[in-house]
Amino acid sequence: MMIRKKIAAANWKMNLTLTQANELLDNMVKDIALTNLNHEVVFAVPFPYLSAMKERIKSQKNIVIAAQNCYSKKSGAYTGEISAEMLASVGVDFVVLGHSERREYFVETNAQLTEKMQLVLDNKMKVIFCCGEPLHVREANQQNEFVHTQIQESLFAFTPEQLTQIVIAYEPIWAIGTGKTATTEQAEDIHQAIRAMIEKKYGTQVAQQMSILYGGSVKANNAKELFACANIDGGLVGGASLIAAEFLSIIKALPDL
Ligand code: PEP
Repeated sequence: MMIRKKIAAANWKMNLTLTQANELLDNMVKDIALTNLNHEVVFAVPFPYLSAMKERIKSQKNIVIAAQNCYSKKSGAYTGEISAEMLASVGVDFVVLGHSERREYFVETNAQLTEKMQLVLDNKMKVIFCCGEPLHVREANQQNEFVHTQIQESLFAFTPEQLTQIVIAYEPIWAIGTGKTATTEQAEDIHQAIRAMIEKKYGTQVAQQMSILYGGSVKANNAKELFACANIDGGLVGGASLIAAEFLSIIKALPDL
């Protein structure tokens, strides 16, 4: 069986001043003791802090930095936007794309996300691609179809080699920032379905290699159970990643296998 990476990813969203961000990162980094080289910790921080954060973690093995978005054009007259090339030039490792907050507030479409992903991959960075259904879709038990469309329209344009540079984060919208977590059964079921979608299109090897994270109110007290599921390879964590002790426990919950 192929061993895939287990990942704890912090999404700080639009929080913290530079002083607070430095303090939080330093507090966590000194206590992150990754003994398993298959584990990776990702900090998705606001744009203005990327360089500073990269500098602070550069000697740390398996701790990497992510941007929370980038623009869908290569360069040019797009005042206020940030390109993938710029992110790569300051040492960014991952770019989070398709977060439900961006889909909702900034009307990002599946097609636009493909353009962004292409640019991120062209610039030799990796992607954390977020997908997940709203509450009414879950209530109608249509979540697998909904997520299938998101994945088909955004990811299936890529080659198998490119897919290996993409991590999927399944985040049911009704569980984000609400304190409501999907049950482990609900989460494992859809993670398994997502892996099957990838397998059907790209084959077993790519599907088994792909890390699929769960996001939606992951906390210190539920991470272990979620991460123990066969198809859940870690978490994308919002609120709890702003509290050092919480996020450190979440990292410790990554399983060894
Ligand atoms: C997120 O925004 O990706 C997220 C999962 O947030 P929270 O952990 O706060 O639900």
